[in-house]
Amino acid sequence: MRDALETLNWLVEAGADEAIGETPANRLQAKSAPSLTTPMPARPSAAAAKPTLSGSDAVGDAQALAASATNLAELKSAMEGFEGCSLKRTASNTVFADGTPKGRVMFIGEAPGRDEDRIGKPFVGRAGQLLDKMLASIGLDRNVNAYITNVINWRPPENRDPSPEEAAMCLPFLRRHIELADPKVIVLLGAVAGRHVMGLSDGIMKSRGRWMEYRVGDRMVPIMPTLHPAYLLRQPAHKKLAWRDLQSLAVKMQALGLLESSARAN
Ligand code: URA
Repeated sequence: MRDALETLNWLVEAGADEAIGETPANRLQAKSAPSLTTPMPARPSAAAAKPTLSGSDAVGDAQALAASATNLAELKSAMEGFEGCSLKRTASNTVFADGTPKGRVMFIGEAPGRDEDRIGKPFVGRAGQLLDKMLASIGLDRNVNAYITNVINWRPPENRDPSPEEAAMCLPFLRRHIELADPKVIVLLGAVAGRHVMGLSDGIMKSRGRWMEYRVGDRMVPIMPTLHPAYLLRQPAHKKLAWRDLQSLAVKMQALGLLESSARAN
């Protein structure tokens, strides 16, 4: 029993934290014709998966696919068909976006975690619940007037930081995503989003709360980095800084006519 528990712990720590079949499959067994008693794996094994393109081809492929999308639904299916990013092999879902672009405010996080990968939507775990509270404090609601996505659309194994190559393959999709969602204001959640979207090398503590500009076609869109809700769960004392940033967002949105003036963080 103890051995079984230790093995289970070891598997969870290694990132195998979800059952994908009814019965265990012996992946060490020599490959033979599938038998009727051997369950088909839900996902292809790494060896059987389609080879990914080399880094630069994959980025070119991502750019071409992203450019060909003329609306958000087309972009989503282009990403679901994209085989250039190896993260997709280990992920259960392509996590595209949640909320509505109608409110013209877009929040960009880092990458899906376990809950997001399982459900296929960004920010649905504990960090997402805190994000929802943060949004509500200034009159935003993902079901009504806020749009949420991530830099990376497939869960990195064990929630590790995405590599620069993985980010490079997702960025053409993100740029097109921003163009098609057409926000009037963008908020970057955390240092990883700040680094990949705006090339920020300062720590998030330095860059948070600073308004910058992001080019979308011939428009410059105001964009601000703030603290990631997952960080705030670990460092609740820093929530006051995030609240200050939210206040600044509310003021910006009021100036742009996107929010009522009663919407102020408290
Ligand atoms: N953290 C992120 O950056 N994105 C998610 O979707 C969930 C957690």
